[in-house]
Amino acid sequence: MVSKNMARKLTRSENMARIRGRDTKPELLLRRALWAVGCRYRLHYDLPGRPDLLFIRERLAIFVDGCFWHGCPIHYSAPRTREDFWKSKLRTNVLRDMRVDDALISDDWRVFRVWQHELGDIEAVVQNILGLLGGAHKTVQTYKTDMSVPMNVSEPSARYGLGQEDDIDEKLWWVCGCGSRDSRVLAVSGPGSLRPNSKQRPASAELICRKCRSSWSAKVPSDFKGK
Ligand SMILES: [Zn+2]
Ligand SMILES: [Zn+2]
Repeated sequence: MVSKNMARKLTRSENMARIRGRDTKPELLLRRALWAVGCRYRLHYDLPGRPDLLFIRERLAIFVDGCFWHGCPIHYSAPRTREDFWKSKLRTNVLRDMRVDDALISDDWRVFRVWQHELGDIEAVVQNILGLLGGAHKTVQTYKTDMSVPMNVSEPSARYGLGQEDDIDEKLWWVCGCGSRDSRVLAVSGPGSLRPNSKQRPASAELICRKCRSSWSAKVPSDFKGK
């Protein structure tokens, strides 16, 4: 899938720098970055959830999930108006994502979901995808219930001034009992943003683990400080 004889006038990091600077939709950003390294994907394939990028031969479906629409535990922000509408919207979206995953996985696709915020380090995302394309079927970490690829809560974004690397997991409030950090927000207790340093943080949130599918409520720490 990665073309070897593609002419490259710019170095890879020059390309990346150009791509990063453009103001565009997240999925376009990722498409351009993959294109820049010679990675060829398909679009608009008639599959559940309409994946943002598809690699047919490698059976890999990729979604770029917006932090607001898909319940990012680091960035979800509950609007102050039409609370009920947004509440039901979020739950519907998050549960639909999981049904989409199941449908694709049962049809033998691998599903890779990238958070919009992870594109801040787009080179790392591209590296992950290249790894998944490079015959990595055997080494990809799989979930108990299915074959899906865990979504990486990106390390730089997840750390947010939480101190030593060793105790990151204990300090992340959205970690599932199964140990997975790949959880999504189903609901929050009131308006406000989960972003670090947010002035108004909801008191609690309901989360669902993408790996084991349990859901639980967690207190949102009010002193969750970021950089
Ligand atoms: Zn996010
Ligand atoms: Zn879990």
